[in-house]
Amino acid sequence: MVIVLFGAPGVGKGTQAQLLADRYGVPHLSTGEAFRRAIQENSEFGARARHYVERGLLVPDEVVTAIVEQFLSSPPYLQGCILDGFPRTLPQAQALDAFLQRQGRAVDAVVNIMVAEDEIIRRLLLRGRPDDSEAVIRQRLQVYAEQTQPVLDYYAQQGKLRSVDGNADIETVHHRIVQLLRSISVDNVPSSQ
Ligand code: ADP
Repeated sequence: MVIVLFGAPGVGKGTQAQLLADRYGVPHLSTGEAFRRAIQENSEFGARARHYVERGLLVPDEVVTAIVEQFLSSPPYLQGCILDGFPRTLPQAQALDAFLQRQGRAVDAVVNIMVAEDEIIRRLLLRGRPDDSEAVIRQRLQVYAEQTQPVLDYYAQQGKLRSVDGNADIETVHHRIVQLLRSISVDNVPSSQ
């Protein structure tokens, strides 16, 4: 299974992705987390991403795509994975489709977690990550509206988009996503690898 968790910063993608990964026994890939780790370790990817992450801007598509393809080519990810924070632009979505197709698989479902904007800002300020200052949060929300929301249309056209109300506690939202995946029989899709 390849599931994409979608939604604005602060909707709880990371938390929900981890719960799904644990439930289905597949890895969770967060590009934001991968970049934060790379920045901390001062790796080549980190050096290329730092400028953007600190400002709440998107890391260039070719850098993101390269790091994701590296993960998706490694054994644990061939069984399937939960993608969190990727794809975030149309070129990223197209690159992901082309890449998975070469491996003989495809995105099974895109789950859009929806949360009201004032609640999003409240949650992000509580979280207090280095890129969670109010100015950078606003920048990330604007980038989301301008560059990431169009990706929803792309998946809607493919008939893969599903939405979940994220204005509830963690367990309730998890349960809603599980029900949803069950209703479209994605919870038992064996990977073709
Ligand atoms: P949030 O969803 O709260 O914005 P993330 O951890 O997903 O947090 O992302 C943090 C930062 O990492 C983003 O602001 C951006 O700079 C970078 N990033 C993460 N994923 C991508 C991506 N797919 N494309 C470009 N930049 C990304």
